[in-house]
Amino acid sequence: MSIKIFDSKVRKVVPFDTREEGKVAMYCCGPTVYNYIHIGNARTMLWFEFIRRYFEYRGYDVTYVMNYTDVDDKIIERSKIEKITPDGIALKYTKAFEDDLAAMGAETPDIVSKATDHIGGMIEAIEGLVEKGLAYESEGNVWYSVEKFDGYGKLSGRTLDDMRAGERVEPMPGKHHPLDFSLWKAAKEGEPSWDSPWGPGRPGWHIECSVMSTKYLGMGFDVHGGGTDLIFPHHENEIAQAEGLEDSEFVRHWMHAGMVQMGAEKMSKSLGNIVLAHDAVAQIGGEVLRYWALSGSYRSQVVFSDSALDDARASYERWSTFLSSARHSLGDDMPEAPVHPRRKVGGEGLEGPGSEFTQRFISSMDDDFNSAGAFAAVHELVTEGNKALEATHGGDVEARARLIALTSSFVELIAALGFGFAPSEGGSDVLVGGLVEFLLEMREQARAEKAFERADAIRDKLSELGVITEDTPSGTRWRLGAAD
Ligand SMILES: [Zn+2]
Repeated sequence: MSIKIFDSKVRKVVPFDTREEGKVAMYCCGPTVYNYIHIGNARTMLWFEFIRRYFEYRGYDVTYVMNYTDVDDKIIERSKIEKITPDGIALKYTKAFEDDLAAMGAETPDIVSKATDHIGGMIEAIEGLVEKGLAYESEGNVWYSVEKFDGYGKLSGRTLDDMRAGERVEPMPGKHHPLDFSLWKAAKEGEPSWDSPWGPGRPGWHIECSVMSTKYLGMGFDVHGGGTDLIFPHHENEIAQAEGLEDSEFVRHWMHAGMVQMGAEKMSKSLGNIVLAHDAVAQIGGEVLRYWALSGSYRSQVVFSDSALDDARASYERWSTFLSSARHSLGDDMPEAPVHPRRKVGGEGLEGPGSEFTQRFISSMDDDFNSAGAFAAVHELVTEGNKALEATHGGDVEARARLIALTSSFVELIAALGFGFAPSEGGSDVLVGGLVEFLLEMREQARAEKAFERADAIRDKLSELGVITEDTPSGTRWRLGAAD
């Protein structure tokens, strides 16, 4: 059993094979740090970090590189609006991006590279392209000559004529072909600039990614990711730059995440019209957003709407409640979450009641990261876990052993998915779980003492607070949410 991925370069699902056995070198286009990022970009970033995490779960050594575009027209525009320097804008929104991604459970990439730290390398690459006749200078600007690169259009599967018709690019003075793209932009007054063989200026956007990815990962690295909106022209241009310069393959597998559709139903209930991840984290909670972002396939278009978020929250809380109930029930026997869960290829070491679900989780994820199947496996595990929990409350010793085994698989899988269920997360699940269990014990005691009024008062108060209790022969079960 091995991982299969949909490779955008060949537009089909292919076996995932790496340049070096057991190692994955991957790069994903990061944000232009001129504002808080759109929820759609956040989903793309979450997904590639999750894919990285899953490679590690499957035993690979991963080097993950992401860039920050910290010099760009949009940053300069924004700096005029906010009346702070372009540097200040880049710093402010880099920090916000990092905080928001962390709140959504994403780990920092191994290498985070800023465009402005690599201007020298970009100038060198542009000089190389000019020397090879693939680029030309005109009035302090340097353009890439798309007609000179044979493979131009191979990623997006379009010819120059298709692209020209589709993109409606305006001819510009000094450009040989309307699709020629900018490698170096001559400085305009008041804008950040660097010295170069073509005079002061700054690099175009595309050159930074091919230069920084190959600097850290070399040519022919394993995975290059980004949103589908970057296939053309950004990734097409990256290929032209890197392969034009090196005459060898730039990237082994291209992967692209689908776009987010803003819900047709208005985001009105309590959320207003959220489009920025920063606001969404504050109002919805980072891990609920993570659930929403990762529970549907990375390639599909997903909807961001009240009902999609309500579903995500309910499912997230189901897991959270199971975790706190198991923790409460098992006490010192509660299995610890692995700090960095790794499974070797083949599902090695899988046994016991939880293994069936772990196996299904792995086979779904191996199939082009089919997270819908993987999340379903975890939900079924929780269903079994809840049964074991109930039987454990009834004093069944075997059920307790089963609960321990199932919980052990559960904590491994949620760690692989990147959920922490931290007490601060929406609803403070650990604290809430502990308090509810405590109140239910008080109620039990009251009943034992035949203080039925006090017992009912506790139940009514819990119900008022949205805790549904159900008395069963094996004890009282509870959950959060509306009564059936
Ligand atoms: Zn890029």
